[in-house]
This record gives sequence, C-alpha cells and structure tokens, in this order.
Amino acid sequence: MERAILLVDMNAFFISCETTRRPELAGRPAAVAGDPKHRSGIILAPNYEARKYGVKTTMVLHQARKLCPDIVLVPPDHGFYERKSREVMQVLSQFTPVVEQNSIDEAWLDATGCEALFGSTLELAQRIMKEIQSKLGLPCSIGIAENKFLAKVAADMKKPMGITMLGREELDEKLWPLPVGRMYGVGKQTALKLNRIGVFTIGQLAASKPELLSDKLGKWGNELHRLANGIDPSPVLPHAIDEMKSIGRSTTLSHDLTDLMLAKKVILALTDEVGSSARKYKKRGRTIQITIKYSDFKTITRQKKIAATFLTKDIYAAGAELLKENWNPKQPIRLLGIAITNFESDEQDQISFFDFSTESGQKKEEKLEAAVDQIREKHGLSMIKPAILLSQEKNPY
Ligand SMILES: [Mg+2]
Repeated sequence: MERAILLVDMNAFFISCETTRRPELAGRPAAVAGDPKHRSGIILAPNYEARKYGVKTTMVLHQARKLCPDIVLVPPDHGFYERKSREVMQVLSQFTPVVEQNSIDEAWLDATGCEALFGSTLELAQRIMKEIQSKLGLPCSIGIAENKFLAKVAADMKKPMGITMLGREELDEKLWPLPVGRMYGVGKQTALKLNRIGVFTIGQLAASKPELLSDKLGKWGNELHRLANGIDPSPVLPHAIDEMKSIGRSTTLSHDLTDLMLAKKVILALTDEVGSSARKYKKRGRTIQITIKYSDFKTITRQKKIAATFLTKDIYAAGAELLKENWNPKQPIRLLGIAITNFESDEQDQISFFDFSTESGQKKEEKLEAAVDQIREKHGLSMIKPAILLSQEKNPY
C-alpha cells in the first residue's frame, strides 16, 4: 500500500514563538538575534516581514539593520522554544501516534490508513495546520508525499502556511531542476564533491550512474541516488528515542567570550536543557562532550568518560572540567556546546534499575531533578533555574 507521509515544519519557529507572548511583534519586521548591543551578534530567526527586506538567518546585526532599520530584535530564549516544541509535538500526536520528531521545529507523521478518521490526507493536513494555529498561535507548512524524503521536499515549497502535495510523477518538474546543494541531506562538502564530477542539479544526480556516486561518496552515494529518484523506504519511527545517539545543545554567543566564569554559566544553562531531555527519555550516558568554536571559526571537541548518569549536576561537573582543562583566555569563543552520549543499553538499564532501587544518594538526586522536571513541565522552563543563573551577573547570551 502506498504510504501517506506528512512533514510538519514550523515557520520561522523562534520568532513565531516570541510573537505568541509579544503580540506587538505581529506584522512588524522582527527577528530573534544575539545581543543587539553587540555588533558581533547575528540573526538567528527572522520573521517573514523581515525576510521581505532581505534579512536572513546568520546575517550580522548591522547588516540586517542596514537592510531594515525598523527591525525589532529579540534575544533568544531556548528554554521557551523547547517548551513550545513539546507543545507542538503533543498536538501532532493527537492525530496519529506515529510521529517522528526531526528537529526542534519539525516532525514526520505517518497518516497511512487515517482516511477513515480524518477524510483525505489533504484535509488532515488542513486540520493539523488549523489546530496548531488556534491552540498555540504558531504557523507551519506541511508537505505530503509517499515517503519521508519527498514530504520534506514538499514542505519547503510553500512557506509560510503552505500545504504541498508532491507525487513522484512531478519530480522532473519540481525536484530535478533544483541545485544539488538544496537537496535535504546534501551538505556543502558533498555538494562540492558532486559538482566536481559534473553533477549540479538533483536531476543530474538522479540520472548519474550509481557506481560512479558510490565510488566518490561510498554508501551515501547510493542512498543519494535513490533519494534523488524519489525513493525512500525508511519508516517514520515514532520511537526515535531508541535511535537516539546523543543529546546535546549548543549556542552561538552574542559576543565573543574570554571569561571562564561566564563560559561556565553558558555551559550550565545548556546542561540544564540537556539533563532535562536525558531524564525525560531515560537516557543515562557515559560520555560528556563539549564543543568550542573560537572567534576564528576553529572548532574543537573534547570528551570525558564518567559513570552513567542523566543528572544535570554530573553532566555539568564533567563539562565544566573539560572547559577548564581546555581554556585559553587569549582565544575568544563564539560558540559553546555540550552533549551527553554513549548511552547505556536496555540490558544495562535493567541492572542500574536494581542498583538504584535502594535509597542511595544517587537515587535521591534523581528524585530531586525529576521533581524539578515536573514543575517545569507544568509551569515552563524558566520557573526553576540553577542558582548560578540567578546571580546578578549578565547572562552572556
Ligand atoms: Mg525546520
């Protein structure tokens, strides 16, 4: 049976979230951006009014202001966007349990066989869009196709608030003329490699010999060839959680950092989100990794092995130590990230369950952080913050 796959992609997600709590932004050019007081800040998410002036993601602020002097800039609040994202996923899961979140602002749904419940797939998409708009005040675009890849392509075609159906018979007209770099899954490096062998459009990719592609790109070459031909048998995995390899957060700072104390605060804020996700998905990891991008764009990652945990305090302790060990006050930092990975397998989970069944110190810590998670679930991430974030010192992002 042919499948009915939807990709729901939120439009200008961060700034749309901000508009739900600052209605005065509606209809005006606005963007979520790094600290506007600092020239080195960048645009993270412009709304569609700002895009009309040519304002784009990652554009530096003074350039954005030149294009659009009236633009309203809002500092980022990732905790708030995470919460909104969860609300979006909750709405989606009311339509079908087969929801696979692909990123903070998009998810696939498998609606095969849902016709009896919702009418046509197009009607279902219309209902989803309406529901998200009326319940959460957020706009989205939806792509409908027979597989995940084509649904993703379709969702990109009409923004904002567009619903696009893409059939395989339309590929020659709608997909193949596009430059290969626009294809989902093809990064800059892959695009360059493809260009070097004379492949510039997705159509040329689809018409290439698979052997030539696998020669240049390995297995991935074959996969790209299949996708360019509109073939993608991969299932929508509602338990993407099981596939989860790591949980991480990173942030580009509004100005370059040279102060270790401030850098630690950033790491703590990020760890707070990482820990709360890890606990939500019951993922205890044994490796903590930090990412540091310097102002010259050189990037390093450093790892540390620890006893399996999903506690914010443990993740933070390892992250802060890594940061300290690799600190060089002469090298300004523009991005920081932290991730937990190397998760315990189910079998080990069983063992640790019994380990924790006595009221050990670890168990108490878990209860404490679980209680914090619950309060946040109810009242929002900003209700409880680690004490260090409440100090008067300026938050650097
Ligand atoms: Mg998206």
